[in-house]
Parts: sequence; structure tokens; C-alpha cells
Amino acid sequence: MKKDFSPTLLDFGPLQIYLARHFGFCYGVENAIEIAFKTIEENPGKRIFLLSEMIHNPQVNADLLEKGVVFLQDTRGQQVIPFESLTKDDVVIIPAFGTTLAIEKKLEDTGIPSHKYNTTCPFVEKVWNRSEQIAKNNYTVVVHGKPTHEETRATFSHAAANTPTIIVNDMAEAIALAKYITGEKNAMDLEKEFAGKFSEGFDVTKDLERIGVVNQTTMLASDTQAISDFLKQVMLEKYKLDPATIEERFADTRDTLCYATNDNQSAVYGLLETDADLAIIVGGYNSSNTSHLVELCEEKLPAYFINSAEKIISAENISHYDLHKKQEIITTNFLPATKPLKILITSGASCPDALVEEVINKLLSFFPAVKTSAALISSFA
Ligand code: SF4
Repeated sequence: MKKDFSPTLLDFGPLQIYLARHFGFCYGVENAIEIAFKTIEENPGKRIFLLSEMIHNPQVNADLLEKGVVFLQDTRGQQVIPFESLTKDDVVIIPAFGTTLAIEKKLEDTGIPSHKYNTTCPFVEKVWNRSEQIAKNNYTVVVHGKPTHEETRATFSHAAANTPTIIVNDMAEAIALAKYITGEKNAMDLEKEFAGKFSEGFDVTKDLERIGVVNQTTMLASDTQAISDFLKQVMLEKYKLDPATIEERFADTRDTLCYATNDNQSAVYGLLETDADLAIIVGGYNSSNTSHLVELCEEKLPAYFINSAEKIISAENISHYDLHKKQEIITTNFLPATKPLKILITSGASCPDALVEEVINKLLSFFPAVKTSAALISSFA
């Protein structure tokens, strides 16, 4: 059945909010949060650790910290608490992104079962399974992902246990990789150009003869598709194949994007068909899927990436995260004087819906003559 990605219009009179048809929490995140809080309940008196942030949402992580949970690593995998200080009586929760085989082994060696409190999302596991299938058919795995992201590090580790694996961050790196496939670049240069992004023993001369692309589940679907199409074309030309024979060199992996990423991104395309004045995107600043929603919006209109309603300081000023400068900046006069003012709102897969509601209420507070939320809800009844 074809899904409807047209936004919901919340018409408050002078303020019109276009709410994305799909936004916010996904299955994987809800599941991870539920398991984490249940783990705390079930283990009174025990030390409870999280490998790293549960999900990329500051409020959820702050809640867990408040309940006494301690993070073992920061989001880039740097150790905060040494593994050596753990004992078999400790509880370690593996977050929704999953983790590397090396970390699983470290936990097991300490006597901590790595599967007991494992909240790895099934859609991430699906990518690992797909990588394993590719490996069994002697393809090298190309992971489209951010090399320092927990999920990409985990996927890389699982794939690399079965087959040569290499990470490409974006199309520029896919183009660079293609030059090693075609032989335009010297194999020796790959070591430097892709340092830290290929598996041990990677042999450029033979490990790029058969490839398949999988992705970090929260990348932009259109980017992964473009990278996959590009590398497929490179293989077609290099080995003089056609669509009937391409599988000899290029594995079909179309299905490794997660549904939530797809739906949230498609819903943004739906939002962008409106004639809105600006967009507000709510989510954690280190959330990959949220930042991709921001990128899509930025192409068309002023887009403000905030992690809470408090970032809307007043009707004039907003403090928002600039993806390019990688810092929060303040923009003045962010609300134009258009009547009615039309604002697009969406949020990332790790953002609680309550935050979106708070953002809407904050915006409403700047328009004294608007309909109340209650009046609006009754008009939908
Ligand atoms: S965004 Fe997708 S893969 Fe990631 S936790 Fe949510 S459902 Fe799972």
C-alpha cells in the first residue's frame, strides 16, 4: 500500500504549523529505552553501565544518568571508565546502535553476558545479517556511514569478521574508492587515503573485484542510493557487464535502510512541498538521522535545528545548531512577519514527541490571538 507522506496542517489562525506525517521515536529507540529502564528496575543495588549514549537524545540520556546509570564510553568510542574496572556482577547495557565484536568479547571475558541487556535495534542487525550474506558470496562490504558513529563502527566490525570491509563517508569517498577499482590510483595510496576505514589485511588488488554496499541505517537514503548506483556503474564499465550479469561483481543490497529513516525522510519531502516560511527540526545535535532531516530542509528554506523548546529564546531570537560550524549560534528575527506564518516541524528518531509539543506551545505563546491547542484538537474530533 502506498504510504501518505503529506503533512498535517495545524491551523492556529495567524500561525500555521505543518507537522511531518512521520516524525520522532522509532521502534528501535522505544524498544531500547524500555529495556534500559526495565534493566534499572530489575537490578537494584547493582552498578549499571551503558556502553555509550543510549540514543542521541540529551533528555533521555540525562534521565538515565539521574537514575544512576554510568556511561562507559563517549559517543566517539573514547573510554571514560576503563573496562578493567568492571566485574562480573556489573550490568552493561548495549545501546540501540549495537557494538563491536571486540567489545562484546571484552564483556564476555569479564563474565558479563553481552546478550542479556542488549538493545541493538533489529534493523541494525538486519544490516549485519545482510553483510554476512554478502560475505558468504565472497563480496567485499562497502559501508556507507560516518566512520566514528557507534553504529558504523559496530557494522564495520561485524562485516569485517566475515569479509574485507571498507567505509565510505560520502560520494567524494565513493569516487575516490572507484579510482582504486579502475586502477587509476596506486593501491599503495589507499592505506593513507582510507586510513582507519578498512579491515585488517585489505588487499586492494583483489578485494575490490566483487563488492556490495550496505549503510548506517540513518544515512540519507538518496545519498546511499546515489553511492550504490555510482559504484554499480563503475563495476559495469570496468568488467563490461550488463544488468543481467552485474551480480557477478555487485551485490544487490537495496533493502538495508531502516523504515523509520525512510519514513521520516519521505515525510520531510512531503513538508517541503508546502510554501512554508521556515522549518524547525527537533533532536539531539549528535543524532545522525536528525541532521539529515536538517540538511534536506536547509536546501529549501531557513531551517533551525534545536534540541529543546528552550532554544527558542523569544519571538525574535533562536539559539540553534549550525551543522556546518558544528556549534550553536543565535539568529535574530527568525520569525518573519508573514501572515499567516507557516512553520514546518519535524523531529528525529531519537526525539520524544513531548519535545515537539513543547516547541509548538512555545511558538503559540508568541501569538496571543491564536486558537488554543484544545480548540484545535476539538476541530479534528
Ligand atoms: S532509526 Fe531505524 S535502525 Fe535506528 S534505532 Fe530507529 S528503527 Fe532502529
